[in-house]
Amino acid sequence: MTNNKYQFFIFLYMNEQNYPEFTGLELSPRKVDYLKFILEKKGTVKTTEISSCLQVDPSTTTKTLNELAAAGYLNHIPYRGVDLTEMGKEYAEFLIRRHRILSLLFTHYGLSTEEACAEVSRFEAFVSRDAVNKICNSMGHPMVGVCGEISHEKCLHLDQSLHLEHNH
Ligand SMILES: [Zn+2]
Ligand SMILES: [Zn+2]
Repeated sequence: MTNNKYQFFIFLYMNEQNYPEFTGLELSPRKVDYLKFILEKKGTVKTTEISSCLQVDPSTTTKTLNELAAAGYLNHIPYRGVDLTEMGKEYAEFLIRRHRILSLLFTHYGLSTEEACAEVSRFEAFVSRDAVNKICNSMGHPMVGVCGEISHEKCLHLDQSLHLEHNH
């Protein structure tokens, strides 16, 4: 593939969403918790609420929120807190889907709902989107997980997305 063609491809692809595709491995477990928490709050969330619910001291919370904002996941709303950008919302929806698919999988192998959620919460940040999509596909895209409904936007177009996600 020539460089020009490659750039054209990236341009077309980014033009669709205005931000690059993600692997699901971009964020640390702590940042995953922040984005999931903010998505579930629906709307603007106060920094103090995040630090008390996630049991993190306020200065660490502010630092983490600044990093997430700098990376394009969040907007700061002066005097009100933070909310998710379009990219942050899509990413957080993936994070919820990943948690629910993996939790559902664990309950198929002997764990209770509570056990599955707790186990998955410890490692979910290290499972790629590619793997989650393949697992979701092999499970037949279940609509209901053990801890909530499961949405399926990207995983239903697995054949296309797999080619795009494989860059090695
Ligand atoms: Zn859960
Ligand atoms: Zn699916």
